[in-house]
Amino acid sequence: MSGYVEQGEVVRNEQIGSDVWVMDIHAPKQAAEAKVGQFCNVRVADSTAPLLRRPISYAGFDAEKGGTITLLYRVVGKGTEIMTHLVPGDTLDCLGPLGEPFVTSKNMLLVGGGVGIAPMLCISSHLKEGEEAQVILGFRNESETFWADLFNDTPVKVHITTDDGSVGTKGFPTAIMPDLINANAFTSVMTCGPTPMMKGVAQVAKDLNVPCQVSLEERMGCGTGGCLGCGCDGAEGKRYKVCKDGPVFPAEEVFF
Ligand SMILES: Cc1cc2nc3c(=O)[nH]c(=O)nc-3n(C[C@H](O)[C@H](O)[C@H](O)COP(=O)(O)OP(=O)(O)OC[C@H]3O[C@@H](n4cnc5c(N)ncnc54)[C@H](O)[C@@H]3O)c2cc1C
Repeated sequence: MSGYVEQGEVVRNEQIGSDVWVMDIHAPKQAAEAKVGQFCNVRVADSTAPLLRRPISYAGFDAEKGGTITLLYRVVGKGTEIMTHLVPGDTLDCLGPLGEPFVTSKNMLLVGGGVGIAPMLCISSHLKEGEEAQVILGFRNESETFWADLFNDTPVKVHITTDDGSVGTKGFPTAIMPDLINANAFTSVMTCGPTPMMKGVAQVAKDLNVPCQVSLEERMGCGTGGCLGCGCDGAEGKRYKVCKDGPVFPAEEVFF
């Protein structure tokens, strides 16, 4: 399945941080079928610039209440800047759900950095019966506590690390992982964020014998496996397409 193209109606598009926005889009087919860790590929302009769709993870989906999907996005270039101009009632061409989801388990440690927090929020608000989770959020400083506020309506316990120590523990999420893992019987670690952070998270999880899944944010072309634009090396000489084989991989398959 390569997803549905839906002309999603923008329901909300709000700035929640200096360069971070949240958008709710009425896209009922995706809302009904999306799984945690999957993404949609949005076409931000009818013109040829930008030509390629932009991949954005589902930060949430809600099949019951109106069939909406939620995207959390950081403005980094032309495509994401165009998205900020959309207002309720506008349409956004969304292709999804795409990619392989996270495989959830009974007791998860979620680790998100920057916009990599989006899929962690999605897992946290879609826990299945019998599943529980704690989340470590890594961000720069206290001006970014809005990331933690996003988890207020979820049942997960939130731990914070900041680069400058202005909120939570000073340092990266890996600073508090060993104590948390030693104090809890986690059945898996799931992470999304900057690659150096994910490599560190995967290493700590490996050292402490907890299986780890990582979500790669490779630049993409088509998003559906056709263009080979997002290839990455896998263990034992394998070659993966991040859009189709991922973006979620067992850590040992892509960090070796
Ligand atoms: C599976 C997947 C899920 C993603 N989920 C989210 C999300 O939930 N929220 C979010 O804000 N972003 C997410 N991204 C990243 C997002 O796709 C890019 O930031 C976006 O495509 C940039 O488009 P642009 O036109 O604004 O910037 P461009 O003009 O294309 O690029 C601006 C700058 O951003 C860098 N950049 C662009 N794409 C990426 C990328 N994939 N990884 C690292 N650097 C990049 C470029 O190198 C350049 O320096 C995700 C990417 C992938 C592959």
